[in-house]
Amino acid sequence: MKHLILGNGPAGVIAAESIRKMRPHDEIIMVGSEPEPPYSRMAIPYLLVGNIQEQGTYLRKSVDHFERLNIHQRAGKATALDVKAKTVTLESGDVLAYDKLLIATGARPIRPPIAGMDLPGVHPCWTLADARKIIELAKPGARVLQMGAGFIGCIIMEALAMRGVKLTVVEMGNRMVPRMMTEGAGTMIKAWVQKKGVTVFTDTRVEAIGSGADAPLQAKLGNGQTLDCDLIISATGVKPNLDFIAGSGIEVDAGILVDDNMATNIADVYAAGDVTQARDFSTGEKVVNMIQPAAADDARTAAMAMIGKTAPGRGTFAMNVLDTLGLIAASFGQWWGAEDGQSVELKDEQRFKYLRLEFKGDVLIGATSLGLTDHVGVLRGLIQGQVKLGEWKDILLSDPSRLMEAYLASAQAQTQWGVVKSAA
Ligand SMILES: Cc1cc2nc3c(=O)[nH]c(=O)nc-3n(C[C@H](O)[C@H](O)[C@H](O)COP(=O)(O)OP(=O)(O)OC[C@H]3O[C@@H](n4cnc5c(N)ncnc54)[C@H](O)[C@@H]3O)c2cc1C
Repeated sequence: MKHLILGNGPAGVIAAESIRKMRPHDEIIMVGSEPEPPYSRMAIPYLLVGNIQEQGTYLRKSVDHFERLNIHQRAGKATALDVKAKTVTLESGDVLAYDKLLIATGARPIRPPIAGMDLPGVHPCWTLADARKIIELAKPGARVLQMGAGFIGCIIMEALAMRGVKLTVVEMGNRMVPRMMTEGAGTMIKAWVQKKGVTVFTDTRVEAIGSGADAPLQAKLGNGQTLDCDLIISATGVKPNLDFIAGSGIEVDAGILVDDNMATNIADVYAAGDVTQARDFSTGEKVVNMIQPAAADDARTAAMAMIGKTAPGRGTFAMNVLDTLGLIAASFGQWWGAEDGQSVELKDEQRFKYLRLEFKGDVLIGATSLGLTDHVGVLRGLIQGQVKLGEWKDILLSDPSRLMEAYLASAQAQTQWGVVKSAA
């Protein structure tokens, strides 16, 4: 059996290793289009800070790791897929055949349609190549403009601040991380970041970028201001890498549509990681969930299916934890709430503490928290476990700070139920 894996990020690597564990003699080929050994984009902020060298981002540390596992690594970029002939064509013209195909090609930054995006000194922060350019330009005192305050934007802010740059963030939404955090949380993150000396403009766009008279770059903002910059980082979102599947018949919406086994609509073709659009654990709708834990889960599920042993996932779980200049923010599940649900919000703006809980019936379906690191596991456990809170739902609605008590009480109730059930 020949398994062809396109992409050597976390999804590709975990799938290859999982297949190998279960099938010692199958042929496994893993194709990667970047020049470096398989690495984790998640480690890029540590590289920017200087805590690690490039090798520290590599997913597997020993040089012969894949060779020892008899996973054949191949450099190349897939440019076409023929699902009838079961072949993939690489940019080099080489054609690779497969019995089972996994598409784990991840995503790439969206380039907003703004004049000047191609000027030297304007970079996304997505690859190791981008990180090298940022390190070169983000010197102490450099004027850095970051376009976008989403997940990636917030994560890299700490690294930029630690490099001693003069940072300005421009976000077109009305708050920080608008697609992952409630208005209350996003507004508090903005206040925190400003307190730390970063200039933040929300409800504002970068309208054009040009060369500056007193700086390498000048950005024109929607609020009428112009900013001199040494570096502009574009963190305005990403989109799945799926150009090469055009015409293949694979169903695509915002990403490659997969079922709970990570199978596409085409026989023997699977997909995992950032490139996919899978069933959301909370809503049942198909969503793109671009986080590394989801990529790892997808990869294990796909690997099982590729060897013919299905172990369907329970749907992709939204779990966003970010450290913005030391303020830990998290959102889980259906954090925006349900139309027929109930919610409660606890806010301490002075101490940067925030908790919002979303319920449907007596089940916690989503939550957002700031500055409450102890609660992260509890929130995830209650939501993912779909724990029935019973009377604790009303107690939490009047006092959400009793979350830990509710967790312990409901965990105990569930254990007792489990004991009674198994004794019956
Ligand atoms: C700076 C930064 C910080 C992040 N921090 C976090 C975090 O704290 N927590 C978190 O959960 N997530 C984080 N992420 C997101 C996380 O890195 C991704 O969710 C994860 O990398 C997805 O893994 P993947 O294997 O699906 O895709 P990728 O890691 O993107 O790997 C895909 C691979 O496929 C290759 N490829 C693309 N096209 C082709 C082709 N046509 N042919 C062959 N190969 C191809 C790519 O070059 C790449 O090597 C961060 C991302 C960045 C950029």
